[in-house]
Amino acid sequence: MIKLHDLYFKTFISEQELDATVQRMVDEIANDLQDEIPVFVGILNGSFMFVSDFVKKYPKPCEVTFIKLASYEGLKSTEDIQRLIGLTQDLSGRKVIILEDIIDSGNTLEEVHRIFKNEHVDELKIATLFAKPESYKKDFKLHYVGKEIPNKFIVGYGLDYNGLGRDLPAVYQLKTTQHMTNIVLFGPPGAGKGTQAEFLKDKYNLVHISTGDVFRYNIKNETALGMLAKSFMDKGELVPDQVTIDMLNAEVEKNAGAKGFIFDGFPRTNAQAKALDNLMDAKDSQIDAMIALEVDDEVLVGRLLERGKTSGRKDDADESIIRNRIIEYYNKTAILKDYYAAQYKYYGVDGVGSIDDITERLNAVIDKL
Ligand code: AMP
Repeated sequence: MIKLHDLYFKTFISEQELDATVQRMVDEIANDLQDEIPVFVGILNGSFMFVSDFVKKYPKPCEVTFIKLASYEGLKSTEDIQRLIGLTQDLSGRKVIILEDIIDSGNTLEEVHRIFKNEHVDELKIATLFAKPESYKKDFKLHYVGKEIPNKFIVGYGLDYNGLGRDLPAVYQLKTTQHMTNIVLFGPPGAGKGTQAEFLKDKYNLVHISTGDVFRYNIKNETALGMLAKSFMDKGELVPDQVTIDMLNAEVEKNAGAKGFIFDGFPRTNAQAKALDNLMDAKDSQIDAMIALEVDDEVLVGRLLERGKTSGRKDDADESIIRNRIIEYYNKTAILKDYYAAQYKYYGVDGVGSIDDITERLNAVIDKL
C-alpha cells in the first residue's frame, strides 16, 4: 500500500502483469501491420512509460512521436481537454497507431480524432493499455485494449494523482475505505498475547479479536458453535479451519467501522492466513504486521499451570493438554512466521520480562509501522 498526498492506494497490477500485457499488445499490432512502418503517437504525459516499453518490445522498424494533452484534474477526467503540444510532423499517408495509457470517458480520444481529422493519414488506430468500459461514453472504436479495468482511480506506470505516482513501476488503485492498522499478535499459548492486546487496543484504538475468547463465550452460552468447538479445545487441538474462519469473518463484520484489528490466536494455520488476507483485501486493507511474543516452552508451561489455578480453563489445568497445545503450535502455527516474514511483516519481540517492559517493546514496533 502507498500514500500519495492525502490518499491511500493499494497494489492493483504488478510489473509482471504489465509487462505481459504490453507484450501481448505488441504481438497483436506487429502481426496486423506486417512490414508497414507505423508511426506510434503517444499521448503525454500518462503514456510515456507504456510507449517506452512498447517500442522497446516492438520487433520491427517504427517511428515514435508524441502529442501532449491535459484532461485530468485531481481524481476527475474533465470535459475540457487542453492541447498543449499538437502534431509536429506531416503524417499524411502513414499508418498511425495512437498509444494511450488509459481511456476513461473518451474525451481525450475525441480531441485526438479532432487533431487527425484533416491529416489525411492512411489509417488511424487506437491502442490503449487500460480502458474503463463503465465510464466510456463515445463511439470511437478502440482497436487494441491491454486490459479492461473497473471504474476506479489508478496511479503508477505513467499515471499520476496531482503530479505524484507516475514513476511507480506497478499500478495502484485508490482505496475507497478508510485506512486501517491490522496486527496479528502471535506466539505460543501462554506467551501473553491476551494481556498485551488489552493495552494495545486502548493505546491504538483497535478492536481486539481473540478467537479463543469467542469460542469460550460460545461454549458458555451453549451455542451450536460452542458445542462443536468444545470437543477440540478440551483436548488442546485446533478447531477445524472453516468453522474458525467463518467465525472470524463474522466478528470482523460486526465491527465494520473499526480503525483496525488486533488478531489474537488467529491465524493459526496457512488456510486461516490466506482467508485473513482475502478478508482484508475485500476491505481494501491488509495485515500490517505479525508481532510475535517469543517465550521458552518451559516458561510457557509454568505460566499456564499458574493461570489454570484461577482461569477455570480446562485446557490450562492439565500439563499434558498444555503440552499438546504447544505441540499444535509448533506443528501447525509456527510456520506462519515464514508466511509473514516473506512479506517483510514479521517482528519478533522478547516475551519474557515485566508486563510493562513487554508492552513497551510492542509499542516500539507498532509506532514504526
Ligand atoms: P487460545 O485462547 O488462543 O489459547 O485458544 C484456545 C483454544 O481455542 C485452542 O487450543 C483451540 O482449540 C481453539 N482456537 C482458538 N483459536 C483458534 C484458531 N485460530 N484455529 C483453531 N482453533 C482455535
